[in-house]
Amino acid sequence: MTGTPVTLDLSSPSRGPRGKPPRHFVDLTPEQRVAAVTELGEKPFRAKQLATHYFTHLTASADAMTDLPKASRDRLVGDLFPQLLTKVRTMTADGGTTVKTLWHLFDGAKVESVLMRYPGRSTLCISSQAGCGLACAFCATGKMGLLRNLSTAEIVEQVREAARALAAGEVPGGPGRLTNVVFMGMGEPLANYKAVMETVRRLVAPAPDGLGMSARNVTVSTVGMVPAMDRLADEGIPVTLALSLHAPDDELRSELVPVNTRWSVDEAIDSAHRYFERTGRRVSIEYALIRDVNDHAWRADLLGEKLNARGKGWVHCNPIPLNPVPGSRWTASDPAVEQEFVARLRAHGIPTTVRDTRGSEIDGACGQLAAEETR
Ligand code: SAH
Repeated sequence: MTGTPVTLDLSSPSRGPRGKPPRHFVDLTPEQRVAAVTELGEKPFRAKQLATHYFTHLTASADAMTDLPKASRDRLVGDLFPQLLTKVRTMTADGGTTVKTLWHLFDGAKVESVLMRYPGRSTLCISSQAGCGLACAFCATGKMGLLRNLSTAEIVEQVREAARALAAGEVPGGPGRLTNVVFMGMGEPLANYKAVMETVRRLVAPAPDGLGMSARNVTVSTVGMVPAMDRLADEGIPVTLALSLHAPDDELRSELVPVNTRWSVDEAIDSAHRYFERTGRRVSIEYALIRDVNDHAWRADLLGEKLNARGKGWVHCNPIPLNPVPGSRWTASDPAVEQEFVARLRAHGIPTTVRDTRGSEIDGACGQLAAEETR
């Protein structure tokens, strides 16, 4: 344990508006959906019709549900599909293939999501909390503190909306499909474990109970909350795990990622390795390269050694050029320094790919998400 002790706000939102979002169909299990539908005086099979509309046709609009009697759909949608997200603003880049959306939640909390369309795949970066309590030194969301956890439906709605926009041909490139989801927006997904796991279940469940995505195309990115990482490994859903390391030594990591004073570099790497052993999924190590802070060649070597000490072929590295956050003195590494860092990791046999910084001009790139009005 090194570094300055900090107060970490791991899971209990301590300020801002309280209260839960209204109950939504997506929060319910398939059994609970049947119960909710019958309580409203409707036949049980309506639950399946609603699930098909939501997860297959990607709609929650009564007007679109023409296979239900008008009175039924008004009652069912009115009760079970409250509007949870209100689109306040969208910003686009890359000829419209990168879209950042600012959402207002029922209580005025704000979150963002970012859709990135590439040839052959589309990735949505989603938020799991409004704000974040972990205070990583270089992260825009970290400056806000934690407002509250999002509910399952509030997270899934971000995904449904992106999948709908793609399917409807609203994103340049013709009608498309959402293939990948990354929990790399606002918040620490493992600090909102239950809602995030329920979201994952909805994403991977086959139609009509879910979106039928492949678990490997869902990435949960964590600051390194070790007990929750171990729990995730036992869920039997082989999502891709990303560990935000940013330094191979405790002294520096505790400055950059304060939660390191609770779970150290070695403990986090051990847990990531256990995740690989239990799931067979290769883990990603994220490393924001910050000029003269963590980009030294010796740190690349130390990282390579620490990863190799656990085994071969279990991990790959994802250096990310730092996206400078307003008001911070830190900036991205010199390109030559970045290249050397990558070359050193590769020399240790670690597959390494530099993350693209798509969306940075609309503040939609890694770590830049911070709802505008609260900035
Ligand atoms: N709480 C999760 C998700 C955070 S966002 C986590 O920590 O993993 C996803 C990634 O963006 C994390 O690796 C995070 O450390 C990184 N990140 C945050 N701020 C950044 C910045 N300003 N520049 C580059 N990457 C950043």
